[in-house]
Parts: sequence; C-alpha cells; structure tokens
Amino acid sequence: MQRWKSVRMDERQRVALPVEALAAMGWGWDEELELSVSPAGNALLLRAQASVPPRCCACQSGGPLLPVGGGKWLCAHCFEIASLANAR
Ligand SMILES: [Zn+2]
Repeated sequence: MQRWKSVRMDERQRVALPVEALAAMGWGWDEELELSVSPAGNALLLRAQASVPPRCCACQSGGPLLPVGGGKWLCAHCFEIASLANAR
C-alpha cells in the first residue's frame, strides 16, 4: 500500500489530494469520484467513476502518466520531449 503525507480537512470540510496520489491513480483534477465507507467501517474509499483509463494526450500510450493540467496527461517519454522543447 502506498501512503502519502497526512492531509487535513479545512473548515469547509474539503481535503486536497496530493498530486502524487492522483498520478498514481491516473486521475485528472476533474475526475468524478465516488465516496464510500469501507466494509470494516474504519476508512473512506474514493473510486473513480470513469471506466476509461487516461491516456497520454500526445501519443495515446497508457503507461505511467504525469498530470499536465486541464485533465490531460503525458507519458514520461512525451513529458521529456516537451521539457526539452520548453528549455530551448
Ligand atoms: Zn506520450
């Protein structure tokens, strides 16, 4: 099981999910999530409602993806190419 730093609920009962957790799940910022109580009743579970996994917006591969905003994702290869292009 992968864990991230503790997150706190704010005064409006909002919790911000770490970007690393979103990347691990392949979720975009606009992912529609289903929230439920675990069978043991000791945890809340988040599950993506979309059944279509995200793809790299440049090459359409499904490998490990990095969020680039706007609900779009890049694979490591395309991210490197984009980084090199931006560095020039
Ligand atoms: Zn790609």
